Order: sequence, then structure tokens, then C-alpha cells
Amino acid sequence: MVEDSPAMIPLCVPEIRGNEWQYVKDCLDTNWVSSVGGYVDRFEEMVAAYTGREHAIATVNGTAALHVALLVAGIEPDDEVLVPSLTFIAPANAVRYMGAWPVFIDADPEFGLMDCARIKDFIAEECSRESGSLYNKSTGRRVKGLLPVHILGHPVDMDPLVDLARGYDLTVVCDATECLGAKYKGDSSSHLGDIACFSFNGNKVITTGGGGMVVTDNEAWADRVRYLTTQAKDDPVEYIHGEVGYNYRLTNVQAAMGVAQMEVLDDYVVAKRRTHRRYLDGFAGLSGIELLGSPKWAESIYWLSTIRVNDSVSGVGSRDLMRVLKEEQIDSRPLWHPLHGLKPFVDCARYGGDVAEDLYSRCLSLPSSVGLSEDDQNRVIRCICQMVRP
Ligand SMILES: *Cc1c(COP(=O)(O)O)cnc(C)c1O
Repeated sequence: MVEDSPAMIPLCVPEIRGNEWQYVKDCLDTNWVSSVGGYVDRFEEMVAAYTGREHAIATVNGTAALHVALLVAGIEPDDEVLVPSLTFIAPANAVRYMGAWPVFIDADPEFGLMDCARIKDFIAEECSRESGSLYNKSTGRRVKGLLPVHILGHPVDMDPLVDLARGYDLTVVCDATECLGAKYKGDSSSHLGDIACFSFNGNKVITTGGGGMVVTDNEAWADRVRYLTTQAKDDPVEYIHGEVGYNYRLTNVQAAMGVAQMEVLDDYVVAKRRTHRRYLDGFAGLSGIELLGSPKWAESIYWLSTIRVNDSVSGVGSRDLMRVLKEEQIDSRPLWHPLHGLKPFVDCARYGGDVAEDLYSRCLSLPSSVGLSEDDQNRVIRCICQMVRP
């Protein structure tokens, strides 16, 4: 007799339970299926209102949002932009699309976020100021941007970073992709810098299948984002284009999904936080397994609940744990390989990196879908508890 194996518990999958069907059907029924339509406008208005920004412009995905944000924010070819070592690759790729260069900044050991103290040291030790601009002494390039990434749902400590940026005329472009719904010092917009980007890829807190958004208070930048994402059209009838633009717009069908998802975002954030709390309780008595917490300045959304494994205490390493979880039909995943060690970036400058490497080797993200049931979560907790030395 073959035993029924339990269903796979995925890492993080979409949750579709609201008005998605109705709104998408509305697009199909009315033939408004392409890159203009009422849902695009509504989705943009909802995200602008939610993030407390004057302008929101939908894009085809989060990577495109980052690219166009850098384009309008005054980053130029050969400029340097400070990017965290420990993040998904998209922000560093976007910097390279510009012909600009990432400088990788190490993570802080507690939360894994871009370490503001390191940025300060980098500027003090590696840079000089000439006629108002900051230059990297060893590369001779202008340092023009800061690109903090609010990983795992926690906002970076923005106040000191913005102070630095103001002092050295740096633009702050935020990758807020993983933290829609989070707050910084009680406020839902103060961690979004001069311009911020979101992604609505399938694994994010809300999804449009694929999609992104740029938010800013700067009207000129917002206008330029709209212009550049629609092929830089000067005259839509006569096919007059003012410069090399991009086709980066989101479709009405995807935006329809986005509107429905925005309607339930607050519930999803509650679910993410509940999941994190249950893992905390579940691992409370376990030595060598620690959940990455949220900094005191942040109200994290805990996009992915992530443990840090101290294998000399737990008796099992993160990758062994991952393998056994897989055998038990439970999906888990390491954090991102530090970008400074990846082939496209090995020649880029970096400042530190040991902390990112340590977190990469020791951390594991656990199932964190909005729809994760308590039973399934208990299965994950039980499996980990069984493997760890008491
Ligand atoms: C998902 C993600 C992106 C990329 O978004 P896409 O919509 O997949 O292009 C960018 N940055 C971070 C930090 C992400 O997690």
C-alpha cells in the first residue's frame, strides 16, 4: 500500500480570495485589456494613497520600476550607487542598466539590512568631496545614489541615511518591494526616500502576476516616469518620440488584479505578522535557531519569516535543514547569495561583505504564504524541532 504523502507546503504563493475574478472579468467584458484603462488609474491611486505619496506610476515589473526610477533620479552613466550586498539581484542589475556601478555595502548583523554605519565609514574613508559632489577616491567615479532595500519586510533605518544623502547631494532610491504595508517610526511613507519602487511579482505580499510601481512626491520625476515608460511619446497620433523610451507599462488586466489585492492588503499584513509570531512561539525553547527580528524603528510586515541557524548549537546546518524539510514536502530557501560574489559584479567595489556572507550561509526562509494554515505551519515547526538538538 502506498501511503499518501502530505501536500507540499510552498515557500510563498499568491493568495487570491477577493474581487480579482470580478475585476479581471470586467476588463475582458469591456475589452479594456491593454496598457490603458480604469484599473490602471485606480491601482495607481490606491498605492499612492496607501504609501502617502503624491504620485504612483504602474510598471510592468519591479525591476523596470527600479530602472526608470534611477533614470529620472539623475543617476548618470559611470556614477556609483550604494547597494546592499545582501538583496535580490534586481536593484544591482538596474544600476548596471544605467551604465552606472553598484558599490556593495555590507549588511548589519542583526537584521541583515544595509548597514548605515558602513555607509558612513565608506564615505569618510573612501570618498572625497569636490565642487559639491562626492567621489570615490579609488575609482575616481562620482557617487550619486543610495539604493537601500527594505529586505524581508523590514524598513532600513532611513533617518541617518537621508541625513547623509542630504549632506552629500545623493539621491535616495528605495527598493521597497518587500515591505509594502510596513511602517518606519510609525509612519508609512518616511522610509520611501526621494523615490521608491515596488514589485507585484507572485511571491510578494500582494501580486498582479507580474507588475511594479514607482512612487514619489516629485511631480517632474513622476511625469518623466510616465513619459519614459510609454516610449517617450511627444505626439501619440503622429508617432513623434522625444528620446529613447521604454515599454514598461502595466496592463489593465494586471492592474485589475492589483486593485483587488490592494483592497485586502491590510489583512495580508496581519496574516504575515501572525505567521511570524507563531514561528517565534514555536521555536521559543530551541537553541541555535533564531528568527530574524524586526528593528525597533520598524513595523515589519515579515514578508518572509527567516531563521538564522547556529549549527554549533543546533547540531544541524541551514542547508541540511533545507534538505530534510524538502524530504518532508516543505519548501524553504536560503537568503540571496551576496551580490559582491556573483559573476556580473565581481569587479565592482564593495565595502565589507563578511556579514552578508555569514547570513547567506546560516539563514533559511520558511513557508510564509498569506494563506499558510495553522496546521501546515505546525508541521513546519514540528519538523524543525525534531531536527534540532534539544
Ligand atoms: C522581487 C524583487 C524585485 C524584483 O521585482 P520583479 O517584479 O520580479 O522585477 C526587486 N527587488 C527586490 C528586493 C525584490 O524582492
